[in-house]
Amino acid sequence: METYQSFITKPDINKCSDFIHYDLKRAALAITIGLDQSIDGVLSDLVVTFSHIVGFTSFDEHWHPMDYQYPETLPRLTNGSCYPFLLVKNSYWFKHLPDSEILISGEPKNFRFISNLNTLDVLSHDEPKFKWVKSESLISKKFNSNDDYYFYLQLGAEDGVQNCNEIGCDHFHILQSRKCIKHHFKMIKGYEPPEQVS
Ligand SMILES: [Zn+2]
Repeated sequence: METYQSFITKPDINKCSDFIHYDLKRAALAITIGLDQSIDGVLSDLVVTFSHIVGFTSFDEHWHPMDYQYPETLPRLTNGSCYPFLLVKNSYWFKHLPDSEILISGEPKNFRFISNLNTLDVLSHDEPKFKWVKSESLISKKFNSNDDYYFYLQLGAEDGVQNCNEIGCDHFHILQSRKCIKHHFKMIKGYEPPEQVS
């Protein structure tokens, strides 16, 4: 039987997802979970990034092969709606993929993203990374290219020990640069990225 567990615990998710959007770049996948959740007072969506995936399938909610079989163990939010992202064990979907779609060794993990609109299943051996972004509109659409978006996502957190070296900037620097995310991105790409949350 399929079982499910949530794969991040902080911060608590308190809303179901309105949509799941994904941007694919070769074998990397960036998934935006539309949550509009308040993070430090800013309405935010969660971006989950896999550096290498084995495969993925997006289903309209009503066509997901597991919809009618979801057991009662599916984790729920306090308001009763589905928890928006899960690690699936003994995945029924994975077991029923045609062999031709699984040219891989070992058994990858099945991550599932659930929204009111669609369901996205992802197969990957990697652990995903997380980033909260401002949700006023889909952030991935604000970059000039998919390359720029992925460049932005792989910049680490601003947890350097000193301030960014741009005059007047009070952000800390990222580990791979003497600048903060905004100023490092601008130095490399020539324009400012959309404002991020954390
Ligand atoms: Zn800066």
